[in-house]
Amino acid sequence: MNGKIYISFKPLKTTEAIVIGNEKVLYTGNSEKARKIAEELEGEVVDLKGKIALPGFIDSHIHLNSLGQSLKMLNLKGTKSIEELKEKLKDYANKTNTSWILGFGWDQEELGRYPTKKDLDEIVNSKPVLLYRTCFHAAVLNTKAMEMVSLEEGEDADLETGIIKENALEKVREIINETLTVEDYKHFLEEGAKFVLSQGVTSVGFVSVNKKSLRALLELDNEGKLPIRVFVYLNPSLLEELKGLGLTRGVGSKRVKIMGIKVLADGSLGARTAWLSKPYEDAPTTGHPNISREELKKIVQEAHRLGLQMAIHGIGDKTTDMILGIYDELGGERNRIEHASILREDQIKRMKRLGVVASVQPRFVISDWWVVKRVGKRRAKWVYPFKSMLEEGVMIGFGTDSPIEPANPWESIYAAVTRGKFEGIETYNYTKGECLSLEESLHSYTYGSACIMHAEDELGTLEEGKFGDFIIVDRDPFEAKEEELRDIKVLEVYVAGSKNH
Ligand SMILES: [Zn+2]
Repeated sequence: MNGKIYISFKPLKTTEAIVIGNEKVLYTGNSEKARKIAEELEGEVVDLKGKIALPGFIDSHIHLNSLGQSLKMLNLKGTKSIEELKEKLKDYANKTNTSWILGFGWDQEELGRYPTKKDLDEIVNSKPVLLYRTCFHAAVLNTKAMEMVSLEEGEDADLETGIIKENALEKVREIINETLTVEDYKHFLEEGAKFVLSQGVTSVGFVSVNKKSLRALLELDNEGKLPIRVFVYLNPSLLEELKGLGLTRGVGSKRVKIMGIKVLADGSLGARTAWLSKPYEDAPTTGHPNISREELKKIVQEAHRLGLQMAIHGIGDKTTDMILGIYDELGGERNRIEHASILREDQIKRMKRLGVVASVQPRFVISDWWVVKRVGKRRAKWVYPFKSMLEEGVMIGFGTDSPIEPANPWESIYAAVTRGKFEGIETYNYTKGECLSLEESLHSYTYGSACIMHAEDELGTLEEGKFGDFIIVDRDPFEAKEEELRDIKVLEVYVAGSKNH
């Protein structure tokens, strides 16, 4: 009571008090009435003393295990030169005793060039080293690591430099994951979940879930150690088993729900592995799909037959053509496209017509500051067209793809509202019209995300009957300046009416 509580953002509705009982919102309205109800129920009364509360954020696309794992990895974000990368690797190697040395976050655009096997060998040659590019769609390996994974030279693996991408990287990831136990995964997931909770995220769409991850997640849930709600999108390799078990969308507990299947259909713009209909502006390549149309269609068919939702990673417009073609052919409800980074106007219209929904990552607009150089000026207006999607009536939810982007929702809200205006990013000049309002951004990060995960009846606003998942923040976002949005701090987090953070 005595707060300013945002019930929803579209329409913008506030109240001064809220009563939560049996995990759900029972009443919203004035403080005196709320106190009376609470006293009758012998509940606890919290005086907000004018503080601001909002519905909990819902991150619709997150790699929870990788996030948990990355909290201990070498973090190379913001590294400005190869020398600096070497320094950081040296410090990290000296104080870690894991069998593999893992790092992430470098960007060749910031470093001046790609790092190489030789660079890493100079620092570490007795242990395998793998450093992911910031997008996790490319990595550099040292000689020791190259020997251990025995890759063949090909489109995705350059043995000379130690740079590997996409399918070759996927293979290496599997080799490393083999060495991890369910206990390791439990640890990563618990750490990841605690971390996102501390950022004000109360539900997540957990994508690219493998068998060990699912098992670990279910164990954590059974042990009551899962502080957030998790909507699960499994790897397609698990389809056979799902079929055998008859598992369908919605199966699970209060905290964990099986949703569907997530497939990677192409790569990233940064690594030039996203599949474009015309070549990149700054290299003679169009990128390539990670999966054939036939294979992808088979997965979608199988998933639909089992009553599972589809979520397909599509960054380049050519990939999105392939995905939309399959969705068009096979139908289905709220089929998801992940990222949808380069979208032509005709594709946005087609998404609306097919009822296809998108999980978008506004923070990419800032991380991909070089994107105009990649796609050229003519295509620049198609980059991350959030406003166009909303205006066309396409349902969008926000996500961070964390650990690729920071899990802090205010970073993404800031990026959606400002699109690089304050960083002097070229993208802003070409796509000013795609800036979202604060209402639209907050709505997309709460109700929008709930919608694309079929959860809008229970989550996404604080209307009566929905789960009491909310956060308390240090200032009213609607009274903050645009450039201050990223500085908003989350003070407390409640899930189902219980204070968790
Ligand atoms: Zn992802």
